Amino acid sequence: MRYKMTVKEFIDKSKAGEIEYVDFATKALELATSQNELFNFFQCLTPFTKKIDVEPCLYGLPISVKDNICVKGVQSCAGSKILSGYLPPFDATAVASIKAHGGRIIGKTNQDEFGFGTFSTNCAFGTPKNPLDPERSCGGSSGGAAGFTSVFDFPHIALAESTGGSISCPASFCGVVGLTPTYGLVSRYGLIDYANSLDKIGIITKSVWDAALGLSIIAGHDPKDSTSLKTEGKDYTKLEKTDLNGIKIGIPKEYFVSVSDEIEKHVWSAIKKAESLGATYQEVSLPNTRYALSSYYIIATSEASTNLAKFCGMRYGAHQPLEGNFNEYFSLVRSKFFGEEAKRRIILGTFARMSGYRDAYYLKAMKVRTLVIQDFKKVFQEFDCLFAPTMPILPPKFVDIDKLTPAQQYQMDVLTVPPNLAGVPMISIPCGNVAHLPVGLHIMCDHLQEEKMLNIANVLESSMKKV
Ligand code: GLN
Repeated sequence: MRYKMTVKEFIDKSKAGEIEYVDFATKALELATSQNELFNFFQCLTPFTKKIDVEPCLYGLPISVKDNICVKGVQSCAGSKILSGYLPPFDATAVASIKAHGGRIIGKTNQDEFGFGTFSTNCAFGTPKNPLDPERSCGGSSGGAAGFTSVFDFPHIALAESTGGSISCPASFCGVVGLTPTYGLVSRYGLIDYANSLDKIGIITKSVWDAALGLSIIAGHDPKDSTSLKTEGKDYTKLEKTDLNGIKIGIPKEYFVSVSDEIEKHVWSAIKKAESLGATYQEVSLPNTRYALSSYYIIATSEASTNLAKFCGMRYGAHQPLEGNFNEYFSLVRSKFFGEEAKRRIILGTFARMSGYRDAYYLKAMKVRTLVIQDFKKVFQEFDCLFAPTMPILPPKFVDIDKLTPAQQYQMDVLTVPPNLAGVPMISIPCGNVAHLPVGLHIMCDHLQEEKMLNIANVLESSMKKV
């Protein structure tokens, strides 16, 4: 039997008793294993082939989980050597929900160490290669999740995470769908933190419907996360809209500066397509966009540097034979097991928080963040959504990434960082190809407007598939 099918087909067939699960799961694991050998998507794969008698809702659907989301008893390292050997004694709430709905964890996907990166070139467990062109990056930091989703021909949903664009960027580079929910809609309990005020667990899938299903399962209030919103869970899969009549799209002019021409062309054809489906569009301005990147890198590294203080070789993860005083031991472990980018961010963040600099950097960055949020709130009073390119470039070759300075790499996040700073939901969907390389369209909506956003994305996705 062949198992090339959508998640929906898999669920329908399972419901009808038409899937021989052990055969399905064995073949899925075999394929994942061979693809992992070629492209390096996983930090570890987990056997999941046993049939369980009662399978609610997901019927044993394979679910990959980004390495920074804890899975009970499965090595969870957030892409860092300093956490090697860490077997969480509990499941992240999102993982617990997936399991309760009958999803089966297939493995932990490779990522940039703690989420620090845009190209998955800062991974302690190997760099995933883009299956569309193995000389190029999958994007980051959820590179393993997006690369695997793109090439794995079995029904599957990836759990991923974004702080400043780590779901949208790899989804765009691998030609798949990446959904980042409103900050607080999905519990962060059991997520190994990068920057707590920015981190969001989300979904990477092959289609908008699949992403809607994943969100329906993981969204909802969790008393274990103090920033979790008091919202009821919802079924996002209804997706009733069949046209875009009455939808007002804002086109933020700042998001088209320094974007490559081919990308701009494809994004504009998606805008025109939306118009032909009944939407109207108008250019808008988000004037504080140009300050967003600097503000983000100060806030994100400040939070990261405090979060990483606990990795000192004492409580969990990597350690060494005890030697010297505490500072000497702590430095020894951290020097040995943190990667170069993690060290850079610890230094940057610690500097920005130091007394004397706090007002000049950290507090100023927080004020800028408020201005960025106000920009979004203002346009969403008038517009249903914003359309923009997801990334300013096509997936780059590793040899070209090597030539970029850290600051040039940070610059690549210029389009994904502002909505992440504002905590609004966003979805990246493929909107065309330049040669064999995909282009992503970024759709952003106001806080908690996931339902509207998914409907818009679904209508566009269906109409683009028809071409
Ligand atoms: N590239 C951004 C960074 O390095 C975003 C990463 C993320 O969302 N985890 O901070």
